[in-house]
Amino acid sequence: MVGAVSRAVMDVPGTVPAPAVEAPEARATPEPVTSTEVRQATGIVYLVGAGPGDPGLITLRGVECLHHADVVLYDYLANPALLEHASPSAELVPLGRKGSGRVYTPVEITERMLEEARSGRTVVRLKGGDPSIFGRGADETAALREAGVPFEIVPGITSGLALAAYCELPITQQDDASAVALVTGRERDDKTASCLDYDSLACFPGTLIFYMGVGRCAKWSAELLAHGRSPDTPVAIVRQCTRADQALLRCTLGTVADVVRARGVRPPALFVVGDVVDRAPDVSWFTARPLFGTRVLVPGSRATSTRLSGRLAGLGADVVVSPVLRITAPADWSAVDAAVDRVHEYDWLVFSSQTGVDHFLGRLFARGGDVRRLGRAKIAALGSTTAGRLRQWGLRADLVPEESVVDSLADRLLEHARGRWVLLVQANRGREALARALEEGGARLECVAAYESTDELVPDPEVAAALAADEIQWVAVTSGATARALARLYGDGLRRPRLASIGPVTTAALKELGYLPAAEASSHTANGLAQAILEAERESGVRAPGARHPSERSTV
Ligand code: SAH
Repeated sequence: MVGAVSRAVMDVPGTVPAPAVEAPEARATPEPVTSTEVRQATGIVYLVGAGPGDPGLITLRGVECLHHADVVLYDYLANPALLEHASPSAELVPLGRKGSGRVYTPVEITERMLEEARSGRTVVRLKGGDPSIFGRGADETAALREAGVPFEIVPGITSGLALAAYCELPITQQDDASAVALVTGRERDDKTASCLDYDSLACFPGTLIFYMGVGRCAKWSAELLAHGRSPDTPVAIVRQCTRADQALLRCTLGTVADVVRARGVRPPALFVVGDVVDRAPDVSWFTARPLFGTRVLVPGSRATSTRLSGRLAGLGADVVVSPVLRITAPADWSAVDAAVDRVHEYDWLVFSSQTGVDHFLGRLFARGGDVRRLGRAKIAALGSTTAGRLRQWGLRADLVPEESVVDSLADRLLEHARGRWVLLVQANRGREALARALEEGGARLECVAAYESTDELVPDPEVAAALAADEIQWVAVTSGATARALARLYGDGLRRPRLASIGPVTTAALKELGYLPAAEASSHTANGLAQAILEAERESGVRAPGARHPSERSTV
């Protein structure tokens, strides 16, 4: 599963120079030192807690460390969406998960960390939850200390405590629990006798939270019963806590082992044992969000789809971001350079996308200029997303016609641009229809391709499999080019989910390809598209808010 990415820190162009205007530093923190700064020979290791799954639950310090990493060694429990915080040049190493491909053993992980640090690299070891809670953090730091490799530990939110918020399960509710114990449900295989004192655990005056408790559920629950805990004690099984498929299942200590077996409960899951379980509502604030349980495919890169995926994730959707177009810098900059050097001569600059803004202005800055070069030129931004990106560069658009149909778009521009010198900044395969309409309408038009957009040639296997298995309910189609690219990559797979179109141009492209969108945005923006999906879900009445989703509670 690809998690949703929604936070403002993501809203930074990835492959081009950063916007000229940056928010003032909110606070001063010590910057993670890079290996070259401290010592030549030895790097440094950051053991970073990734939090329980929701990518917003990593600490600021964790994000800073990721920014500076040369190599990121990450656990399967850490949400891969967090890797977006790493620099594009960082090496990303998955440490594997049982049952799927190469799995690093603890010894191999330590060796790899030491090897990387010794070669002078800055290493982030990204671990699910908190690195020190059932995370072998101490074993790893012991090896680092012994080897003389500097390290820092960045805490994370441990999953067992995150459930208090995301399931509204008050683990320390004063009437029912005056203490909480974090307990392992799986003791190490090499331990002959149990380290757990079940006598004490059975009469513990509070809430027990079992980690890693699925495999040996029958054992730990039987031990608690044998040591006197009542079989009626409420138990909650919480799977995938803080993730888009979070689920809470209620049972009792007497039935939990049967429930795990009968339901085929799979890790990662936590078991909360105690009376506080009864206080959790059936639907928490997290699972009540209107698109919870709905998986939406957002074509694009994380950098270009931040707004849409953020909005959808905010509504509770499980957002899968997958590129369909490849955006690259022009192979030959000469045309862009010529336009940049003469930019002050135009009456109007029309930016057709945020990517165009980044590439054109990035080039202008790279050639030693700044926004003063634009001189008297007025600026039009096609759509509010493009206008938003201009603001990041310190520029306010004079005209922001929303994308709808080419003719009305051209008309809006021509009200100002007729007889004027206009530069249209776009991709290599640009908006031919718009350019034609502007020219025919009397603008003195020049077009420049500030970036190249080529088709992604290989379908994303995870997306293809999810489409085939009906695991994607919606596809957000954000442009005609995206529609064509999606059709080419996924063909009939695209007939299973519902398609949401950003506007009439995109709808026309979809129809031409033989697909009928189930929803069309009335405002042709990321927010409008998310809203269209929301309204269609509500109208279809397939589920009332909170009903069909995977967190369906059941008392067994
Ligand atoms: N360091 C991690 C725990 C690692 S042990 C932390 O602080 O959360 C692995 C166990 O953590 C899993 O077997 C499961 O019991 C629990 N776990 C981790 N993430 C989880 C999640 N999102 N939902 C439910 N359980 C989770």
